[in-house]
Amino acid sequence: MINKLPTGATIGILGGGQLGRMMALAAHRLGLNTHIFCPDPNSPAFDVTPLKTVAAYEDLSALKAFAQSVDCVTYEFENVPAETAAAIAETGTALFPSAKALEVSQERLVEKTFIQNAGVDVAPFAKVDSQEELEAAVAEIGLPAVLKTRRFGYDGKGQTILRDKADIATAFDTIGAQPAILEGFVPFNKEISVIIARDQKGATAAYDPAENVHKDHILYTSTVPGDIAPELAENAKSIATKLIEALDYVGVMGVEFFVVPSEGGDQLIVNEIAPRVHNSGHWTEAACLVDQFEQHIRAVAGWQLGKPVRHSDVVMQNLIGDEIDEGMNLTDSNVQVHHYGKTEIRAGRKMGHFNRILGPNRAQ
Ligand code: AMP
Repeated sequence: MINKLPTGATIGILGGGQLGRMMALAAHRLGLNTHIFCPDPNSPAFDVTPLKTVAAYEDLSALKAFAQSVDCVTYEFENVPAETAAAIAETGTALFPSAKALEVSQERLVEKTFIQNAGVDVAPFAKVDSQEELEAAVAEIGLPAVLKTRRFGYDGKGQTILRDKADIATAFDTIGAQPAILEGFVPFNKEISVIIARDQKGATAAYDPAENVHKDHILYTSTVPGDIAPELAENAKSIATKLIEALDYVGVMGVEFFVVPSEGGDQLIVNEIAPRVHNSGHWTEAACLVDQFEQHIRAVAGWQLGKPVRHSDVVMQNLIGDEIDEGMNLTDSNVQVHHYGKTEIRAGRKMGHFNRILGPNRAQ
């Protein structure tokens, strides 16, 4: 059933970070209202929404009251607890993307298995729940390899590289002896990502892939187009389409890839999927008339998607920690700056970003 919301309807958003803030701004531009639920009273998204609830995600009565007061619920982070999703489902209010999308993207073993079953290449992987399983996994996959916690890893946290045999003894403890996954080390030469949307009727819209560069494990720049062949870009979009369809997904999703050089040409390996708007899609704000935030709101509101057409070549750069001060002084005619409204500057904290238009879309 299509849940087509009228102007003035209210979208509930779980999570009050910058992604929730940008989703709310997009909703209000379309004449939709927002209600944001977040435990942190200083959430940056609270500044741009008329309706807010400050409560824990485990506070099921606050969650139910929230879900009953809105026309649909969406979220800005993948670690929404399963109980939270279930409590929302009990109220009968629709959750987009679905609880299934959360289940798949929260746990790396479930995620990798899902991607592989969809017929898409991933790094070789094996479950690791103990030191013995780590030894068996290394025997199967070989070295170098990457050991990652199955849950709650982000920005390189909760993972360690095993380069040689000596690392086998310490790696499991290094990540806190938690349920883990061992992945073969992928000898990639680039990382790219595709931001894709799917509406409630099943139509999809994929943006051009961005080439991503990380600094200290945090995304630093996303450049579009990336330095990849046009066929590889099309291939990345079609893999993203395959995955979003296999999940019967509604909303915007990010798909991260490794580009691996090989004799027969570059190969794509999917690293992970994010069931939400994504940092590597912020470039769409300046280089597309319908950006990823509007696209997400359109999808969850049961509206038709916009066209994911890129009018310009662009580079997005994150402003991390005190880079925000310099970033806010940029006044070049080709630069658009975005400040997330966070008052406290901390090292490693994403404070804002800017988009620099490089010229017209050369591919058009
Ligand atoms: P992730 O938390 O899975 O997104 O990983 C963070 C970063 O670690 C990635 O962006 C890669 O740069 C690197 N990385 C993760 N997995 C692998 C892998 N299997 N092989 C090589 N590098 C990896």
